[in-house]
Order: sequence, then structure tokens, then C-alpha cells
Amino acid sequence: MLLPAPIQDLINAFSQLPGIGPKSASRLTFYLLTAPDELSQDLAAALISLKTETTYCQTCFNITVTGQVQCEICSNSDRDQDVICVVEEPLDVLALERTDGFHGRYHVLQGALSPIEGIGPDDLKIRELLARVDSENIGEIILATNPSLEGDATAMYLRQQLTPSGVRITRLARGLPVGGDLEYADQHTLLRALAGRQEMGD
Ligand SMILES: [Zn+2]
Repeated sequence: MLLPAPIQDLINAFSQLPGIGPKSASRLTFYLLTAPDELSQDLAAALISLKTETTYCQTCFNITVTGQVQCEICSNSDRDQDVICVVEEPLDVLALERTDGFHGRYHVLQGALSPIEGIGPDDLKIRELLARVDSENIGEIILATNPSLEGDATAMYLRQQLTPSGVRITRLARGLPVGGDLEYADQHTLLRALAGRQEMGD
């Protein structure tokens, strides 16, 4: 069956989203076709704001609102200023915030080292992290990259880069599901991993 272009276009667009195959894409499209107009309008408006009204915090590279140089966490003077927790993605910040066990600030790398995918140190916010350690009075860096091959490799690389600065370097304790994402770990596991963090020595 040949579909009208507006329908096929939306199916194609949905199909490009992670976890959505051609069948789900068709189902979503036909659902919207018959749902009240407001749903499509709200969705379209939300999609546009998503890209126009968000930006990256210039300190930690977490997501923040357009026009703000710093995110809420970085600009909050009640947070410990001398501990930085290094994570891969903004969703990891959310996961750690949910544990209520960390009160320092973050640094979002925006990914992990992956030779297979061609992601090297220059593709991540590593230079920016080293600059923060140089310019801010940082006492401890907690490496909270994912417990995966890429996350571990990234933590090892960061340790090498950070060691000359003399800052204390710790890594989240084992016990997180190996190969998994931090964002999917349950609160208690994450809290335990945070509390049991270990020095990352040679
Ligand atoms: Zn920030």
C-alpha cells in the first residue's frame, strides 16, 4: 500500500529513534492521525523547544536552559565545591541525584572512549575536565563512568591524565551490573557503589 507522503514521512522519522522499529513507527503515526489535534500540536511544540530552549552548562556540560551559562547544580553554592563526579551522560546525573547520596558537582563527558566507534579523547569533554581541576580547588574526582568496557577504559585514561595534578581519584565500587548503564542501576545499588568508592591507585 502506498501511503500519502505526510504519513510515510512521520513513519520514517519515528523509525530513526532508538528502540522503535517500522511496526511501532506505523502504530504511533496512525495513533496520532486519529488522536485529538492537540496531541500532535503539543508534541510538535515540545520537539521544537527541546532543541531551541536547551543548551549545555559551560562548566559541567550537563543540559541546562538556553540563556543560562551554568546549570542549577553548578550555580548552587550549597553543593560541595571541591568534589566532582565524572559521568558519561546527563541521564547519569539524574540517576545519581535520585540517590540523594552525592552533594558535590558533576562533569558530563558526553560519551565514553570507544576505538570501535572512533570516539577518542578529543570527542569528549576531557580537556574541559582537566582545565577545571587546574583552575578550581578540587579535592576529589569520582570516576562514575559506566561499568562497561568503554566506561572502564575511559576511567583508566582519565586517571592517567589526572594523576599529575595530585587530586584524589576514586572509582565507584564494584557491584553495579557489569556492562550495564549507570542510569539503569537501582538507587540502593548506586548509593552503595558511591559510598564504597575506592581509591584508584596504580
Ligand atoms: Zn553545570
